[in-house]
Amino acid sequence: MACFYHQDRVATAVCNTCGKALCTECGSRFQPPTCMECAEDYAENVKSEMKKNIIISVVLMVVGIIVTMNPLGFLLAGIPWGWSALNKITPAIFLWLPLIGWVIYFLIKLIIAYVIGIVALPVKLYQWTKEVSKIKKLQEDIANSRCA
Ligand SMILES: [Zn+2]
Ligand SMILES: [Zn+2]
Repeated sequence: MACFYHQDRVATAVCNTCGKALCTECGSRFQPPTCMECAEDYAENVKSEMKKNIIISVVLMVVGIIVTMNPLGFLLAGIPWGWSALNKITPAIFLWLPLIGWVIYFLIKLIIAYVIGIVALPVKLYQWTKEVSKIKKLQEDIANSRCA
């Protein structure tokens, strides 16, 4: 089988996503081996995911400030990220509680989510920004290898 991009080269790997045949050079471009189309798709997906997260956070910050009528209201924007972190560690004991237990559980969770969110949001924003610049570099690499 020949490389999808180089008809004169023997394929030594396949794209991890679509199974396209790749030669040694093409197969070692990305880890795991990925063809250029799939790498572009991946880059686009991650980029739009990061943009979505950043937009959601900014919207929540504005909503937080409006709702609390306080500049520090932007800290409420961390709640969804704190909440999703808590979802991973929800103790099973709460599942046995009657309705009032659920209400208390919900309130406690909301407060903890808020506290975690204050730390989690800046970390997330940092990670997203870093991810976006990583993706930009990946897209440059793809563009460069297309020219070569
Ligand atoms: Zn592929
Ligand atoms: Zn090749």
